[in-house]
Amino acid sequence: MDTLTLETLPLVKILPFFILALFAYGLAELTFVHFRQRNAKLGEYGMSLKGLGFTGIVGVLVEFVVGPFSKLLLALWGASLTPLDAGLTPVGWFYGFFIYEMSYWVQHWLAHKVRLLWCLHSPHHAPQSMNMFVGFNHSFLETIFYMPITLGLVPALLGVDPIIIAVFTFVDIVWGNLLHLSDKVVTRRWGLLERFMQTPSYHRVHHAQNVNYMDTNYNSITLLGDWLMGTLKPLEDHEPVTYGITREVNTSSFLDVHFGEFTLLWSDLRSAGDLRAFFGYLLRPPGWKPVGEQQTAAALKQRAMIMRTGSRA
Ligand SMILES: [Zn+2]
Ligand SMILES: [Zn+2]
Repeated sequence: MDTLTLETLPLVKILPFFILALFAYGLAELTFVHFRQRNAKLGEYGMSLKGLGFTGIVGVLVEFVVGPFSKLLLALWGASLTPLDAGLTPVGWFYGFFIYEMSYWVQHWLAHKVRLLWCLHSPHHAPQSMNMFVGFNHSFLETIFYMPITLGLVPALLGVDPIIIAVFTFVDIVWGNLLHLSDKVVTRRWGLLERFMQTPSYHRVHHAQNVNYMDTNYNSITLLGDWLMGTLKPLEDHEPVTYGITREVNTSSFLDVHFGEFTLLWSDLRSAGDLRAFFGYLLRPPGWKPVGEQQTAAALKQRAMIMRTGSRA
């Protein structure tokens, strides 16, 4: 183990093949859903591909201008800055798993609860269908700038060995994409795995705009963080998922999906009458307003509960 470095870590070398395999599966899934089921939202697939291409172009530009910038490089940098080092011992692996999962939960929770970060994360939630290409559909701001800090630098600063971060990154990319298997192809729940792993059924709930399902199931590998933080929500048989976000969005439009939330935030910031409203719009949850009826997920859930129970209990 002591000769193992990030350069010799086999997972780093085989990851591109796994990503290509997932992409190939995505194309096969698209073919099946389009020709057999005749209900693929082709505009959304095109939008996702544009998003992926744009991320690639920005990634190359960043590398050209400022040099290599990735989760693993930031993990190495973080490890050189911190006195903490849990090492590659069994305890170090257990600690690394715990820290990676909790870091993932926190960064994803923040992405839903801080409006500026929601602008970065909402492209992933905009599609109104579920398929493997949704897994690839992230804002370049999120994958290139946000996640390397929250899932590379932060765990390393907390003493997780960069090799452990690399291993969980590998699992995260492969398993996290599998969570987006089309519900037109994979309909069953995954038996015993549903007790401790995130599965497509949990992640479909995460992508729902149903008030009952909003802001739940933040982890991408296991259920640990959601279980500890009280955000775990299994799919309920009586309530099918409605995918997407609550604003009107043209899900075929790369510009609307990737920059629509920024446009709305900008217009709210311009209308803010004071600093409280300005920073409230910027940093409070999506749907927050300085005055009037709140439209945050928490407010919507509370109103739905009052409607159900007829009281503020
Ligand atoms: Zn999310
Ligand atoms: Zn997702």
